[in-house]
Amino acid sequence: MSKEDPADTAGVGPRLRELREEKDLGLREVAKKAGVNHGYLSQLERGDVAQPAPAILQKLARGYDVPFPVLMDWAGYIESGLSANHERALSYLGEEIDDKELELVRAFLDAIRSQGATFSLASLDGELPGEELARIRRYVLALLRQADSLGEVPTPLGQVMEAAELVAAGEMTLHAEERRKLRHRFGDLVDQVWSKLQGAIHFRAREVWINPEMYPLRKRFVLGHEIGHYVLPEHRELFAYLDDKKRLRPDIRDLYERQANQAAIELLAQGDRLRREADDSPLTMDVIDGLAGRFRISMQATARRIVEETRQDCALAISFRGSSTGMLMPHHLYCSESFEKRFRWKMTGSAETLIRQSLAAAIEGAEQYEPLLVTDSHGRGSALAVDAVQTPRAVLVLFRALPTRSRILQRPHSWSSAPATTVTH
Ligand SMILES: [Zn+2]
Repeated sequence: MSKEDPADTAGVGPRLRELREEKDLGLREVAKKAGVNHGYLSQLERGDVAQPAPAILQKLARGYDVPFPVLMDWAGYIESGLSANHERALSYLGEEIDDKELELVRAFLDAIRSQGATFSLASLDGELPGEELARIRRYVLALLRQADSLGEVPTPLGQVMEAAELVAAGEMTLHAEERRKLRHRFGDLVDQVWSKLQGAIHFRAREVWINPEMYPLRKRFVLGHEIGHYVLPEHRELFAYLDDKKRLRPDIRDLYERQANQAAIELLAQGDRLRREADDSPLTMDVIDGLAGRFRISMQATARRIVEETRQDCALAISFRGSSTGMLMPHHLYCSESFEKRFRWKMTGSAETLIRQSLAAAIEGAEQYEPLLVTDSHGRGSALAVDAVQTPRAVLVLFRALPTRSRILQRPHSWSSAPATTVTH
């Protein structure tokens, strides 16, 4: 595509200034409306800010009264033109293709283009900032309330979709003939990608598509993920803006996939409800298993969610199995806030050997685990209870700090302790 507009090369700042002058708005006025510092805005308009973050652009969209996707485009977050893969594939498939097939092929090609970037707990592990997590939770809880299903366990996803006015359009299917054609063109990649392609949402038609080959809990998660895209307003706006010729830059796409995953778990866990139920008793794999069944969330996702939110001192190591090979992949480590504060496993990486040994024991099928004696970041000795489980998709090891004798002795002096006769839950 040729860049006909000279402002194209000038970036988002000068274009915004032009726009503001056209609308006869003052810099301070716009800054106030956007909730952005006016000094920053003046730098931006001068072209001194190379690429404002998407979250800033969202605010600016309000201030300048321009659609958010347009600003994303101006800032270079949206790529235009078909990728080589798209072009090759579309020319191969020809024009005798109906809308449904086209939709499928598009989703398929997106997955091919982004390779491993399709979402899954294993591949999209980046953490989101706390402010972002809180914002996502607000949107999800509002939708649950609107669907009259706040606090209902397991979350009735059909009811939630209805409230969001989304239609379960059906299952994405790839007929033998289509698959054969695609295989002819793309080889084994077709099956690899197909197994990764789990769901799709068509924003304009408000349709959600699900890959039927997934196991039921995975389907629930994927449905939650697609609802997540819909419930986050900037996703809705942005995805509706994209078409055959416009696509999100891969790094932004990854970010959006992580946000949709976060929305999915918020939806399934009913905000902090899962965490509150988990904190009723000392955390063990049995407790996690029971809650996973009750909330209808996979063991892996339940364990991760609880450990990330719990008030208990816990850490979780998960090693996923490769979907095609079944081989275990390098583990991920999740620590509760209080655990990380006390032991600094994530920050220092000091427990790597210990974690690998525990995973190895779990794979061997150890029935019982001796408590581990470790030192915290202040050099104090502590004991960790170890618990593990193997699922068809992963091996999980849970570490929970046991109360030390000195802490028990200190408890009566602590201002926060309840009188011995009161039991609170
Ligand atoms: Zn997605």
